[in-house]
Formats: sequence, C-alpha cells, structure tokens
Amino acid sequence: MLRNDQLDQWDRDSFFHPSTHLGQHARGESPNRIVTGGKGVYIEDRDGKRLLDAFAGLYCVNVGYGRSEITDAIAAQAKELAYYHAYVGHGTEASITLANMIVERAPANMRSVYFGLGGSDANETNVKLVWYYNNVLGRPEKKKIISRWRGYHGSGLITGSLTGLELFHKKFDLPLDRILHTEAPYFLRRPDAGMSEREFSAWCAEKLEEMIQAEGPETVGAFIGEPVLGTGGIVPPPEGYWEAIQPVLKKHDILLIADEVVTGFGRLGSMFGSAHYGITPDIITIAKGLTSAYAPLSGSIISKDVYDVLMRGTDELGPIGHGWTYSAHPIGAAAGIANLKLVDELGLVDNAAEVGGYFRKALADAMKNHSNVAEVRGEGMLAAVELMDDPGARRFFDPAKKVGPSVVGAMAELGVVARAMPQGDIIGFAPPLCLTRAEADEIVSATVEAIGRHL
Ligand code: PMP
Repeated sequence: MLRNDQLDQWDRDSFFHPSTHLGQHARGESPNRIVTGGKGVYIEDRDGKRLLDAFAGLYCVNVGYGRSEITDAIAAQAKELAYYHAYVGHGTEASITLANMIVERAPANMRSVYFGLGGSDANETNVKLVWYYNNVLGRPEKKKIISRWRGYHGSGLITGSLTGLELFHKKFDLPLDRILHTEAPYFLRRPDAGMSEREFSAWCAEKLEEMIQAEGPETVGAFIGEPVLGTGGIVPPPEGYWEAIQPVLKKHDILLIADEVVTGFGRLGSMFGSAHYGITPDIITIAKGLTSAYAPLSGSIISKDVYDVLMRGTDELGPIGHGWTYSAHPIGAAAGIANLKLVDELGLVDNAAEVGGYFRKALADAMKNHSNVAEVRGEGMLAAVELMDDPGARRFFDPAKKVGPSVVGAMAELGVVARAMPQGDIIGFAPPLCLTRAEADEIVSATVEAIGRHL
C-alpha cells in the first residue's frame, strides 16, 4: 500500500481529474476522496471512513457495490476471451446476448443496439446516425439538433454542445454549429409564477415550435432530451410535457432521441423513462445502469424504422463508416448481462419505485417547514432539494455563497455522499436502486442536519 502523503503528491502532480477545479486541486484546497472499497450502498475511503453513497458514484452503480455475481462474470469472460472486435459482422456470445436482452426490455418499436463505451460516445453516434439517415433520405439540409438548456448529453465536441450548461461551453468554443437549445422544462423557474404545470408544458411546446419555424423545419433533424433532466438539476417534467412536445416533432418529421443514460434500466421505477412518460423515441441512449458501471459500456438503441433507412444507406455505400475498437467489448457485455439479471432477480425496478417514493416523501416531510427549501422533487430513485434565499419571491442565493456545495460538504462529514448540482443550490440524490428504508432514513437525517448547520 502506498503511503497517504505519496499518493496525495502523485494525485496533485500527475492526475488530470475530470470536472475538477485544477488550481484548487493542485494547491490541495479542494476536497478529495480516494475510495478503496464498497459494499451495498456504502463506500469506504483510504482513511477507513465509511460513507453512504447517495449518488451511486455518478448515478451509475445501480445494483450497489461489491456484487460478486458481476465481478465473477467479468473474470470468467476475461479468462475465456478478453477481447474480440465487432467490425464487419464479428461478435462474441456475450455481446450478442446482451443486445438481445436490451431489445427485449426496450419499447416495442426498437430493433438493435450499437454499443459504445460511455454516454458521450453513444450520443456522438446518435448525431452521426441522424445525419446519415437524412442524407440517405435525400434531405441534406435536415441536420440541426435541438437540445434543451440544462440538458446533459456528454462532454465531447458535439455532445458537449448538446449539453445545455454554460460550464461545458465557455472557453471551449462550444456549442458548435447545428446545435440549438430550447427551454428547459423546469417548472420552478417558469417565466410566470401564475402558470399551471400544463400551461407551462404548452408554453415549452410553443417555444419549440417557434424555434423550428424560425430555423426552417427542413433544417431540423432531431430533438434530444432526458426523460427527467439529470445533471441540470434533477427535474422531472411538468405534467403534460412529453405529451405536448411529441406532436410538434412528429408534425415536422423530426427524430426524437431519448437520452436514458441515467433513467434507463430502472432508476425511475420503470425499466425505461420512455415507458414511464409515454415517450416514443426513435433512438435511446443507454450507459450507466446497463452495467451498473462495473465495466464501461454504452449503447444506442435504434428503432426499426431508422434502421431500415440506415440499411438502405449501406446498400448504396458499403459498410457503415462508424466504429470504435472497443464497441461491444466482451468484458463490458459480460458485466451487462450479469447486471441486468441481478436487476431482475432482486426486483430493483420495483424497489426504485417503492423505496424511492418512501425516500422522497420522508425528505419532503422533514423539509416542509424550512424557509429556504423551495422544492423537494424527483421520481423513482432520483431526488433533489432545491434551496433558495427566498422561495416565495423566487430569489436565489448569491452563487458566491456556495450554499449547495457547503451543505454537501457537511453531509460528507456526517457520512453521506450527495451531489451539489452544477447550476443553482440543488442537493441531488440518486442512490443505488437497492436502497432500503432504513438507509433512506440515514440520508434524510444527514440532509436535515447539514442544512441546519448552514441555514
Ligand atoms: N447523457 C446523460 C443523460 C448523462 O447523465 C451523462 C453522464 N452523466 C452522459 C450522457 C454522458 O455520459 P458519459 O459521462 O459516460 O460520457
């Protein structure tokens, strides 16, 4: 084992951490946590401190830590065949089996899965396929993609452009051309406090229609959205939102990409967020819950109608010119198979609905008289507490006060990991789907105590 001071030194000197304040990290000013183990919903750091991980890593360790069913499957696959590629029709038993398991669980109009490694590259694939699709159909102009402010779709060039958060654009010269952002379906921040949820949903659909008209419907290829806004604040859609949005897309022949990287495989208490909200997508992005992050794997699930057009393209051009060396990596696929079996065997989709509901109610009850709590919201095993200086007047805290990060810091001291969401003072929760009621109570107590320390 390395000494702590040696590890700290190398960490500061050699490790370029993602999504990290580089100066603060190099100077040793920001909190860091070196994690050494995990079991169930708990992780342990190198100082032996045990923490309840109420964010399941980055909302991905859905089955919890330390599941030997998955690690054994990974080891067995690695011994038998650690790698073979999937180009020009090759494959492995694991990747073919997993594709079949995904399509069986996906909405009925879905046909096949293109495998990648993470959510960003899967959305990159999706944008390329939308462009290819419209070229095959002889509509070379129909290439713009409409995303939403506060949407999160990755941090590559195109996917970072799709992401609707300033931090991912500034100084990177993003967003790129062809990527547009429409209104976020964020009821708490609706333009007029007097609007009902349904009125606000209709307003979001009108804004979308206005954007499509202004750009020219013949130039818009796809719309991408998460069933529930995730990194943008854990915001379930207002009533009637997807019902209002989908006809606008249909009318203009615009494909719908449901980014289910967070919501896929049970997090909302349904197998897919699309089924949960009556969304009929043309393409679904999956990652995180596909393997519970035991190995990197993502996918783009493509509808039969879109696939038929892509096939016409390859009849004209030859093999589709898009592939990663690690597409459908057998170790990831073995992890995915074992993970999806475990999700079924342990009844985790139902548990997400049942214990998730209990958790959100307990959180809301505990917060109900706090004058700085603007909203407790969520769906399934996703929850958020939004804090404001004066919720009645819809007045936010000065961001310089860092209220959200301070509360999350205090929670960690109390043994619970939550996440300060990036825009606003929002405490985010996305525990493993195997959470019990007693563990939910632990999260609620730490939240109450931490908010009490700061507000
Ligand atoms: N889409 C959504 C909805 C996500 O939440 C994320 C990651 N948080 C991504 C895409 C990107 O996934 P990755 O970080 O694996 O590239």
